[in-house]
Amino acid sequence: MTTAEQGQGAVIVTGASRGIGAAIAEKLADDGYGVVVNYAADADGAESVVSAIRARGGRAMAVRADVAAPGDVADMFQRAQRELGPLAALVNNAGTVGEQARIDEQDADELTRLMQVNIVGPMVCAKHAVHAMSTAHGGNGGSIVNIASLAAQTGGRGGTVPYAATKGALVTFTHGLSNEVAPEGIRVNSVSPGLIDTDMAAAAPWAKEVAAHSPIGRIGRPDEIAATVSWLISPAASFITGSDITVSGGR
Ligand code: NAP
Repeated sequence: MTTAEQGQGAVIVTGASRGIGAAIAEKLADDGYGVVVNYAADADGAESVVSAIRARGGRAMAVRADVAAPGDVADMFQRAQRELGPLAALVNNAGTVGEQARIDEQDADELTRLMQVNIVGPMVCAKHAVHAMSTAHGGNGGSIVNIASLAAQTGGRGGTVPYAATKGALVTFTHGLSNEVAPEGIRVNSVSPGLIDTDMAAAAPWAKEVAAHSPIGRIGRPDEIAATVSWLISPAASFITGSDITVSGGR
């Protein structure tokens, strides 16, 4: 494959069948990357994101992989590089709110699943991304962006404390990993969105209240997170690593 055919290389966006991940996938395809539109269950959603990208002349493919299943993740990284070229970036976006309940009412199995999807999955994806991109492994360097949450700073509300704790762990992971791999050409940052207009936000009973009390006067749009991710992985952010960027409309 020639460099021209590879474009800017491959990017994997986990959880890109809708919402924030879909907006990130579309923006990164517009930026010239070949994009893996990852999903766990919503094949139709992922295929419609791929179709939208291809209709604009971009390169994309849908890949089913549960980020909590290490075998799925390994297969996804192999396919991405075989079909789209060398990996340039990973966006760990897939996430779940989990069970919304007080800690004394949480089911232990649900808590384990929450940790697997929101923490272990991104770490396993990062492991494969570092293998692919690190100059220590013969790679060209690259970028990892983890989608955390404002909840990591507030501690969560309405039964989402365990969710908030997973996002706090993701911010800490971002910071530590950035130091570990900076000498090998990989930058690692996180984005912490406030409430963003997606299916996940629609399930939050406090969405109207958040909009009413937001200094900017509304909740956010997925494309506003996508623009931040695009900038973070671009050369314009070449001296930024280990940072967490809050995108929340203030407060
Ligand atoms: P969403 O609308 O619920 O979409 C979630 C996406 O993740 C879907 O594409 C879903 O695909 C995928 N996904 C879920 N579990 C997966 C798994 N185990 N493996 C692979 N993919 C999986 O969520 P969103 O609002 O766009 O949120 C995206 C990210 O932003 C999440 O990490 C979330 O915590 C974070 N965030 C969101 C908000 C907000 O207000 N919306 C605020 C702060 C942070 P399938 O349906 O195919 O499984």
